[in-house]
Amino acid sequence: MFWGSLELYIYPDARSVVRDLAPDEPIILNRPHAAARAARFFAEKFPGKSLYAVKANPSPDLVRILWDNGITHYDVASIAEVRLVRAELPDAVLCFMHPVKTERAIREAYFEHGVRTFSLDTVEELEKIVRGCTNEAGEAATDLRLCVRLRVSSEYSELSLASKFGVDLADAGPLLQATRQQADWLGVCFHVGSQAMTPFAYVQALERVRAAIADASVVIDMIDVGGGFPSVYPGMEPPPLEDYFSVIHRHFENLPVAYNAELWCEPGRALCAEYSSLIVRVEKRRGEELFINDGAYGALFDAAHVDWRFPVVALEDDLYEGEAEFSFYGPTCDDADYMKGPFLLPGDIQAGDFIEIGMLGAYGAAMKTGFNGFGNAVPVNVADEPMASLYRGDRIDPRESDNVVSLR
Ligand SMILES: *Cc1c(COP(=O)(O)O)cnc(C)c1O
Repeated sequence: MFWGSLELYIYPDARSVVRDLAPDEPIILNRPHAAARAARFFAEKFPGKSLYAVKANPSPDLVRILWDNGITHYDVASIAEVRLVRAELPDAVLCFMHPVKTERAIREAYFEHGVRTFSLDTVEELEKIVRGCTNEAGEAATDLRLCVRLRVSSEYSELSLASKFGVDLADAGPLLQATRQQADWLGVCFHVGSQAMTPFAYVQALERVRAAIADASVVIDMIDVGGGFPSVYPGMEPPPLEDYFSVIHRHFENLPVAYNAELWCEPGRALCAEYSSLIVRVEKRRGEELFINDGAYGALFDAAHVDWRFPVVALEDDLYEGEAEFSFYGPTCDDADYMKGPFLLPGDIQAGDFIEIGMLGAYGAAMKTGFNGFGNAVPVNVADEPMASLYRGDRIDPRESDNVVSLR
């Protein structure tokens, strides 16, 4: 048993954590080296600036790791995220990219936290930003960097972000013109949906950006291709991220924008999916259903609500029967606390056994609630590799398998 601070100790892997702690509650395993590697990859290879979308995982430790490895800009969506990142990283550039904000949040972000970049998708929001950034003497801000969010298709992504935000192409021209009047620096942003499985998602979006710019005939200083960069999960093997970067770069270069226009992206998932996994314990087995101690109201929201299949590994050495397909029930009393899977585990797994669930750094720990008293999870650091990685260099290129359409 290790009796010092868990936060400072680095375990070799999940099995050593189970041996040491035999935990009654879920344990979040963090891999700082994996987040650092993802950050360096984007900082070095994306042909522009990479903003970390904080909502994917707002852990202060993670934000610090990303900063230390070259991520200088942060996409924040609420005043709480603004405060959190500002407290952790006094010199970071914060960009308030939620298109619907309160005037008070805008005012605090601008005057107290140095935020200059805001996104919007309506004239009402533009007016709100202008009001929120006007000082007590009644002088309007002259240093606003504004991004008009364009609605684009989510059809190439696993999780849609198409219906909620973004101005329609038909209305984009007038909104870009109105925003140009107030902005020192004008950008166009969009989001193709999360876990975009092909670079073509960005091609169709950038074609829509081209049409919007042509309609508006205004000078554009920045194009922000948003998030959507994928990670690796069972049944979801995306092409290499370099393919996304080169396709985006090529199409960006052909847009009618200012000669010194910048290219931005806002990865959430891709920067942190590999950061964390989770240890859970089987509390009960009923046929092929395992009752585990985390679920839909914990770090497994996506497993329950969109049937996301996270990779799983049994952490017991004495299991031997061939693999079987299981579904999971979470710990709360709600029937909806159910994860269909299928999750492949040894056929003789039983109550008391531990399981590691991988690739939960993005939209995992961030979604945890305390519903029914089951929100606890102790974080510890581990040194081993995540269950899958886009950044290790030894991944088999799925372009060499025949189920991926080539873009070349
Ligand atoms: C959620 C979100 C992101 C991050 O999306 P990922 O799919 O996790 O990369 C980026 N930008 C905005 C505006 C978002 O809402």
